[in-house]
Formats: sequence, C-alpha cells, structure tokens
Amino acid sequence: MRVYLDNASTTPMFPEVIEHMAEIMRENFGNPSSIHQHGRKAKSIIEYARKTVAKVINASIGEVYFTSSATEANNMILKNAVQDLGIKNIISSPTEHHCVLHTLDYLHLSKKCGVQYVDVDAYGNVDYAQLEKFLKKSTIKTMVSIMHGNNEIGTMADIQRIGKLCKDNHALFHTDSVQTIGKYDIDVQANNISFLSGSAHKFHGPKGNGFVFISNENIISPFIHGGAQERNMRAGTENVSGIAGLSKALERVSHNMDANRVNILHLRNTFKQKLSEYFEDIKFNGRQDGQFMAHVLSVSFPPGPKTDMLVINLDIAGISVSSGSACSAGIEEDSHVLKAIGHDTERKTIRFSFSEFNTEEEIIYTVEKLKGLTNISK
Ligand code: PLP
Repeated sequence: MRVYLDNASTTPMFPEVIEHMAEIMRENFGNPSSIHQHGRKAKSIIEYARKTVAKVINASIGEVYFTSSATEANNMILKNAVQDLGIKNIISSPTEHHCVLHTLDYLHLSKKCGVQYVDVDAYGNVDYAQLEKFLKKSTIKTMVSIMHGNNEIGTMADIQRIGKLCKDNHALFHTDSVQTIGKYDIDVQANNISFLSGSAHKFHGPKGNGFVFISNENIISPFIHGGAQERNMRAGTENVSGIAGLSKALERVSHNMDANRVNILHLRNTFKQKLSEYFEDIKFNGRQDGQFMAHVLSVSFPPGPKTDMLVINLDIAGISVSSGSACSAGIEEDSHVLKAIGHDTERKTIRFSFSEFNTEEEIIYTVEKLKGLTNISK
C-alpha cells in the first residue's frame, strides 16, 4: 500500500481535471490574444475560469488575475502595493509562508518599506490586541499581511476580525489563502480583504497555476511587463489548459466543501485519537479547537534515535509525509513556524495532511506502521 498524507504540500489532481485539461490542449490550442475563432475560444475558457474564481471569493470578475503560482501572486501584491499605493509599513506574522516572509525581508532590506511582526502564541494565534496597537500607532500608510490558514500547523486566523481592524484603522488587508481556498468560505467583501492569493495544486488542480485577487479600489501596476494579457497586469501568453484546470478543480471542491470538510475532519480525529491511545508523550501542534484546518495535523514525537529517522522510515514503509524541520547549513532544525510557537527543539515533528482521497484504512495502516517505527508505544 502507498499512502499519501502530504496534501498540504500538494494534492493529487482530480481525474476529470486531467481529462478536461487534455481536451483543452488537444482542441483549444489557440492563443487567447488572437482575434480569430481559435483565439476567441481560448479566451472564453480563461474568462469562464475568472468568473468561477470571482464567484467563490465573492469578488468582481475584473478583480481576479491568473498567475504562475501563489508565490508570484504574493510577490506581486507585496512589492507593487509598496511601489504603487504608497504603503510604508507592513504588519505581518512570523508564521507566514516563506514567499511572504522573504519578500518582506527584501522590501525591508532594500529600504522600500518598514515591516513589523505581531507575536504569535504557543498555538500560532496572532496577537490581535498587539495588531490593533500597531495599527493605531501607525501614522503612515499601512498594510496587514496575515495568512488565513497556516500550512505547517493548521491554525487559522480570524480574517473577519483582522479585516475589521484594518477597516477601522484605514489599513489594507492581504491574506494568503492558499491552504483554505475551496476548503473554507471566503468572502473578500464581507471581510474587507484588498488582496488575496490562491494556488490550484492545493485543491487537486495543476501545479504552476495560481491567482490573485486585487480589489478595484487598490489598482497596482503590472508585475510582469510585456503584452497586454490579463488586462495588462501580467504579461505572457496564458497557460490556458492550466487555468481551465484550476477552475474545474475549484468548482468541484467548492461544491462539496462542507461534506469534504466533515469527512476529512473525521479522518483527522480518528488518526489523532489512535495516536493518543497508542503512543506515550506525543504532542499536537497548533490549535486543536475553534479555528483550525481539518486537513492538517502536526505531531511532535519525543526525541530518540527512532523518531529522528521517522520521515524516511515512513517513506520506506510506503507513507509520504512532511517533516517540520528545515535544513539550514546542513543542520536540521525546527522550521520558522515551529520556532515561532516555541516548539521544543528536541522533539521531532511530522505534518500529516489529508484530502478527500484518503481513507480510514490508510489511517489505520499508518498508525500500525508508526507503532513499529517508534519505541514509544504504550
Ligand atoms: N502560501 C502557502 C500558505 C503555501 O502553503 C504555499 C505552498 O506551499 C504557498 C504560499 C506557495 O504556493 P505556490 O506553490 O503556488 O507557489
């Protein structure tokens, strides 16, 4: 048996998405910028996809642009909001994805913008009182960039609350919603969101396809210069089949969102309960009640020679998972997210992440394998 429990990294594509993309590559190969029928057909596929994304996040069609990834979308938002909208201060959190944090480092080091980080607690919750304090104290044009759901530990931010704080304090709000699009309701208007990013491969679509929402009130200049594609915002001939795959996958996940979440939460709960039952001294990272993502379970195992090798040994046993560590100068250390929540550095963390393709049988298989691979069974 081969078990895939790394769905926060990427997800298997829906077979019908692959079919749909193949058909488009075969039948609709026109360049969307061409005015003949082949071109117009390709263009209409992109515009249909734009409508799909806009509907899911309650945006206007003209506020959605396709990109190569969420990494590109986040770069575009942060760099061009500073360049074009006079943003002088960005308030973020230390648990953001590297594509946000490294962009903020760049903006800060090149003196383009000041950056402030709010604290997070041991569960990864941002300190909302501190955020409010920072916002109230800021006399320069400010943007808040806080992710909706954390990809490593699953903790979710209260975007409604952050949106309100931003509105009350005249700040713009950017949220990286890569881990939550198609899994949780997101309403850009109700939550005062100015910028948002998403990525198809996290919801069973193709890799290399992302999108960005830019509210009509905050127009920024093109990120990639060239032709007039994406209404001049992002030059380069569009990846038509990829965009079609993104929209097809998003339609399907958002249609079954509530039922999927219930099923995935059931898998997570079963797994968590069995781990607690069988193993001594394990810890779960991130929020375990209230606002957390059903598809992520971050588990810390006690130190020991066996747990050190767990990711590799699980792989050999047929189970794909991610570790919670980063390799820095050849030394394995806790990721920036685990460091930010004050995780015990001696412990070995594994992120198990689920999708609708996983089964209870796979969960039970994984627990059985873990029993053999660790020496901490009760
Ligand atoms: N933001 C978050 C929270 C992510 O989990 C990821 C992917 O791991 C990204 C951004 C980057 O997305 P992409 O792979 O589309 O560049």
